[in-house]
Amino acid sequence: MEKKHKAVALISGGLDSMLAVRVMQEQGIEVEGINFYTGFCVEGHTHAIRNQDKNKQKRNNALWVAEQLGIKLHIVDVIEEYKEVLLNPKHGYGANMNPCLDCKIFMVSKAVEWIKENHHDGFDFIITGEVIGQRPMSQRKATMPIISEESGAEDLLLRPLCAKNLPETLPEREGWVDRSKLYDFHGRNRKPQIALAKQFGLTDFATPAGGCCFLTDKSYSDKLVDLWQARNSREYEMDDIMLLKVGRHIRPKAEFKLIIARDAGESKFLEGYRKEFISIHALSHSGPMALVDGELDEEQYELAAAIVARFGQGRMADEVELDIALPKQGSLQVKTPPLSAEQVLQEWYV
Ligand code: SF4
Repeated sequence: MEKKHKAVALISGGLDSMLAVRVMQEQGIEVEGINFYTGFCVEGHTHAIRNQDKNKQKRNNALWVAEQLGIKLHIVDVIEEYKEVLLNPKHGYGANMNPCLDCKIFMVSKAVEWIKENHHDGFDFIITGEVIGQRPMSQRKATMPIISEESGAEDLLLRPLCAKNLPETLPEREGWVDRSKLYDFHGRNRKPQIALAKQFGLTDFATPAGGCCFLTDKSYSDKLVDLWQARNSREYEMDDIMLLKVGRHIRPKAEFKLIIARDAGESKFLEGYRKEFISIHALSHSGPMALVDGELDEEQYELAAAIVARFGQGRMADEVELDIALPKQGSLQVKTPPLSAEQVLQEWYV
């Protein structure tokens, strides 16, 4: 019996990788998926935190895509290794803090490593859902060979959705894959992908235009840069990058910022950090949970409390009583008039 060829597909959870896998499956290629978890991924858990997002899907899109395609998915934690990609991208950043080209090279190189380690399973090549011209930074005609070369994948990397616009790869030359049945998609127009999805009977998929991660988001990137500047270091831990996804971030002083929940869901989420951070919440009125990130000395207690009071039910009261809880040191109560909307300066918002 003729050997069935096997590919590993980079699965982001979006439509393109989903289609790339289906195109391969149509040609009888056995596919397994691999998803790299950087910590910046846009995933359902963020929607699970906020009340206003309650109607949004809370699914992990990569897992969901794998389920739709009937393939095995390997989720690989790359949080630590990814730091180097984010902090020192050889090819620089995109419009925000997104090092897309380096990120793609890194992920494909991890896939190369992965198929070598899993050689006993006989993976023959790698596929991605990349489309030429789709993304300004990483998906351009000029960057496609850079990704193949710098990742070490060379011609083991096949992009089924735009392969006809690129030189032949090993799977095509060897006849494992029929090049005439691959696609020549290019540009930002998503109509061909939507039409192909329809042809495959795929009606439900993650927002096609959505980025793969928070690093493409301006507001998130601003918060990340602010965090690094305030700490005078670009080190970060998982909790740091998670907290940037939650709450209003207000920095009234260089030494500290407040992370103030925007709804009950976020308050509950921030409560989980009370053992590590100073936390503030109103006692006399209902209001949000807030964390203090940085150094808060006694002279600043009232300022921090007055800001937090501004965002609770006591915002119009003469005075609000708040609890300031210091990890391992107990708590103290302060009474303060809340700041007015104008007193919470626009430049404090990160
Ligand atoms: S959007 Fe994020 S995950 Fe996607 S390529 Fe860019 S940096 Fe990487």
